[in-house]
Amino acid sequence: MKLVIIGGVAGGAASAARARRLSEDAEIILFERGEYISFANCGLPYCVGGEIKNRSMLLVATPQLFRQRFRIDVRLKSLVTSINRERKTVSVTGPDGGAYEESYDKLIISTGAEPARPPIPGIDSPQILSLRTIPDMDRIIEAIEKKNARKALVIGGGFIGLEMVENLKRRGLEVAVIEMLDQVMPPFDHEMAALIRNELENNNIAVWLNERVNAFEDTGGGVRVALQSGRTIDVDFVLLATGVVPEGELAGKSGLRMGIRGSIVVDDRMKTSDPDIYAVGDAVQVFRFADGSSTLIPLAGPAAKEARVAVNTIFGIDTRFRGVQGSSICRVFGITAACTGLNEKTLRSLAQPYGKVYVHPANHAGYYPGAYQMTLKVLYNKNTGVVLGAQCIGPDGIDKRIDVISMAIQAKMTIRDLSEAELCYAPPFGSSKDPVNFAGYVAVNDEDGVMPLTHWDQLDERNPDDFILLDTRTSMEYNGGHAPGAVNIPVDAIRNRLDELEPYRDREILIYCATGVRSHVAGCILKHHGFRAANISGGYRTYCQFHPKACTGETKIQELQESFCGTPRQ
Ligand code: FAD
Repeated sequence: MKLVIIGGVAGGAASAARARRLSEDAEIILFERGEYISFANCGLPYCVGGEIKNRSMLLVATPQLFRQRFRIDVRLKSLVTSINRERKTVSVTGPDGGAYEESYDKLIISTGAEPARPPIPGIDSPQILSLRTIPDMDRIIEAIEKKNARKALVIGGGFIGLEMVENLKRRGLEVAVIEMLDQVMPPFDHEMAALIRNELENNNIAVWLNERVNAFEDTGGGVRVALQSGRTIDVDFVLLATGVVPEGELAGKSGLRMGIRGSIVVDDRMKTSDPDIYAVGDAVQVFRFADGSSTLIPLAGPAAKEARVAVNTIFGIDTRFRGVQGSSICRVFGITAACTGLNEKTLRSLAQPYGKVYVHPANHAGYYPGAYQMTLKVLYNKNTGVVLGAQCIGPDGIDKRIDVISMAIQAKMTIRDLSEAELCYAPPFGSSKDPVNFAGYVAVNDEDGVMPLTHWDQLDERNPDDFILLDTRTSMEYNGGHAPGAVNIPVDAIRNRLDELEPYRDREILIYCATGVRSHVAGCILKHHGFRAANISGGYRTYCQFHPKACTGETKIQELQESFCGTPRQ
């Protein structure tokens, strides 16, 4: 067996190593057009920021190791220029510029995805940088260290964009971010992303949403960015993080079946439309675990799993790829944001009947030092209770909850399973009722009619004469900010003040507190006294996620933007 692999980083290197583990006899050739194989592109932002101090730490495995331990023929600076399917060869331009053909029995394509470069006038300026490779990282570090950059604009508020915002700020730069959508971090729902934006602004990062770049102008050592809103911003460099595009060109030119945005179509064994060619990683079109629909998920975890499936299949082990959930995580200054499965935007577009809950429990027992509230949103099928997705944001314990729910989704578990999951507990680590259980309890209480739930975003659709809003927090909390029109009766006073609610017996009483816990108690009391009550999921904290301007004011946002635009370049 002669196995040829194109691309030597996540999917390609994993394929090569797995292939050798499965076969001592196979001839394995790995072509990589760059100078490095198997480097940690996920670590690049943290090396820019200086958290990873030694750049050699990014080289997870060297070509020498691949040659010695795995007897893999690694060919660096070798660009595969075409795949000749009839002859079963690839054409390669080697390090010296010479071209040759190499034959294969089986071919694996893992060419990845390249940073998108939208066709904006001036985008070819050398001050407009992006981050995918070690040389890209070196150019950014050079801009900071040798060119003494002070001010950078990140275009794109996704994972890589925000990781870079944090790390550029860590290097002492003044940083701002421009995002064309109405939220940062598109995999999250809008109201969850509001928490991330809030954290950026708390760290003095100016954020523009619903904003686009019209043009870049090279100012000789810097770049002037003209925004659609008419504003111009002078910065030392721009970090372009507007998403990635699958590198499927080689495959496309060879006539393989292509999918979304130039990606390569594969089956669940990672086989392309040619039975001798497999493809893995960011270059392929994958299917969602939850509903089987096609999508692109440029993440390292799926790339590694796909590589294993492809190589297993080539060497006769029956394995199938289960599909992607998009489980992902990002640190943004003091918070972590993680998600898995389908979000509400997608569920709405699929017209699926779904339920949702918001809870704000602590990462661990509240009495143990270092307890912080998190926000956990869980989405589930309204008819079956099967968990479909989750998003979690907070200072600590976020990965644990999303990973637990990710497994629940894979196992097709329901909200009842979440409520019953037995998770480890001692005060420094969790609570006897873990946030995952807690989300399950709230959803099950709704399903069982113990305490119906409603949501802030559903109120606009309702006739205001059909309900009243009841705020069950203390009067001090209420006076610090409340939902418009809400009546305040603190939970501990409610039994003595039921007469105040008598005039509303014909209406539904929609109750909230800070997070949904006290209002649940109040709702139970009201129900036992014959009122129609529902708990507004997530309470006032969630209200503020839906109405961030009402809760935090717009002044700070504008101040940050003005300050970023106004600071003269040094
Ligand atoms: P790549 O790792 O990009 O490898 C493709 C390789 O193929 C490249 O080295 C390229 O030079 C080579 N190549 C392409 N065409 C040819 C050709 N014609 N001939 C020869 N060689 C060729 N994912 C996560 O899950 N978590 C993270 O935290 C995370 N952080 C990231 C941070 C950054 C800055 C970046 C850039 C990515 C991050 N990712 C993260 C995404 C993750 O790195 C990718 O999903 C993963 O690397 C994809 O693997 P791949 O093999 O498909 O492509």
